[in-house]
Amino acid sequence: MYKYCLECDWQASTAGGTTEEEVSERAIEHFVETGHTIDSMRLPPPVILEN
Ligand SMILES: [Zn+2]
Repeated sequence: MYKYCLECDWQASTAGGTTEEEVSERAIEHFVETGHTIDSMRLPPPVILEN
């Protein structure tokens, strides 16, 4: 899980051992504090093998 702000350089991800719950909580905190819009994507990107 990777979340980032569309309006500033804020970001949080599970890459450093942070749980998805913590990332979500931090995103909510950032939104509450700033009113910024948070977008998210999955990490790692899914690798789709097509035969
Ligand atoms: Zn922001």
